[in-house]
Amino acid sequence: MREELLNNPVFAMAAEQFDLVADFLDLSPSIRERCKWPKRMISVSVPVRLDNGETEIFFAHRIQHHLTRGPVKGGLRYHPDVDRGEVAALAMWMNWKCALLDLPYGGGKGGIRCQPNNMSEGELERMTRRFTMEMIPFIGPEIDVMAPDMGTNEQTMAWITDTYSTHSGHLVPSIVTGKPLTLQGSAGRTRATGHGVAFMASTSLGKLGIDTREATAIIQGFGNVGQYAASTLASYGVKVIGVSDVSGAIWNPGGIDVPKLLKYAKKEKFIKDFPGVETIDPGEMLLRECDILAPCAVGHVITGKNAGSLKCKVLAEGANGPTTPEADRIIEQRSDIFVIPDILCNAGGVTVSYFEWVQNLQRFQWTEREVITKLETKLHSAFEQVFAFAAKNKISNRMAAQALAIKTVAEAKISRGLFP
Ligand code: NAD
Repeated sequence: MREELLNNPVFAMAAEQFDLVADFLDLSPSIRERCKWPKRMISVSVPVRLDNGETEIFFAHRIQHHLTRGPVKGGLRYHPDVDRGEVAALAMWMNWKCALLDLPYGGGKGGIRCQPNNMSEGELERMTRRFTMEMIPFIGPEIDVMAPDMGTNEQTMAWITDTYSTHSGHLVPSIVTGKPLTLQGSAGRTRATGHGVAFMASTSLGKLGIDTREATAIIQGFGNVGQYAASTLASYGVKVIGVSDVSGAIWNPGGIDVPKLLKYAKKEKFIKDFPGVETIDPGEMLLRECDILAPCAVGHVITGKNAGSLKCKVLAEGANGPTTPEADRIIEQRSDIFVIPDILCNAGGVTVSYFEWVQNLQRFQWTEREVITKLETKLHSAFEQVFAFAAKNKISNRMAAQALAIKTVAEAKISRGLFP
């Protein structure tokens, strides 16, 4: 396992980050090793009858990084590049996110190597149901709770719920999160990540003594995270001056009308040609002056090439891994940008997934207001802990977030002891 994982560049990067934090925490060699490696790596072949009558085998992986603090929690993706090493790295990062938010979970991640866009609805359903059956010995509300990720959605979660429930002989909604509301999904789940990004950004402005009603924001990506980040920021009175998506970037120094842009994007799918704004280069947009820069699209967009030229005060990482390690070092040296690291900034989604699981276990439904209030309480507490730990130890917010998370997992392992 060790060699296979370290040969994967993404896992090697996650392991290197872990080693740095473990050095900082001065973890003993035995605890360090127990925290670093996944507990279970499950690979299954999934035979699926295609619409043309032929049978194709799809290869699927589920990595359960550790179960020390509860069941593992994490997404299931359908993508042609799904690879065991990368899935293992994503499971490790989910671990730290759950621990930082003090959710009673370990980290998990899974995927099926397939081309979901080239598959019919029927093929996707048969693949999902057969995968669920193959995974029955390894999943459960107290073992492994999946959620949507790239290429999967509410419908995928509904098929998993139905397959698992049919096997159990009764409805088990707590087997997955991110379900449709009709199957006991949670109010507020769709907006949770973007809302959290905006909430964290405005909390950071407060720390810097900047009034939200005087502040400006630039948002890269206008999908689920970017749209809700933009609408929540606008509701706080922040002027959203730049937005981009895969079709291009728009700019209005007087403030973009966010509710109108949301309607436009819903109808047209992209923001290109939105009326009454200037069209600018998307890469250059990231370098313009603003209070909040929120990358909410893809990874590796803040790099060694552009980090020195950023003119934002707060970098709110809505996307996973938007900042490369090289860019991180540059930003740390500049010390004029307040970074909200991804495992904190975009943790709203997994936090409301946790709320969905709790509601399912209790057979109880909370209102959206209750969900958002509880979400803000959890995010605020994690934010304050990271802020205080970074200040006390004179380390970056990213290092502080990872250190707090890894410390939580290490302490749980020490308390439980080593069996036998
Ligand atoms: P999405 O698919 O709904 O939206 C992605 C958006 O990014 C789209 O508007 C797309 O046009 C845009 N985009 C793609 N490439 C771009 C580029 N090069 N420049 C500018 N825009 C580009 O995805 P999402 O759910 O909003 O997720 C966005 C990011 O947030 C991902 O990194 C994801 O892993 C992370 N994230 C999402 C959630 C969640 O709950 N959705 C939770 C945690 C982290």
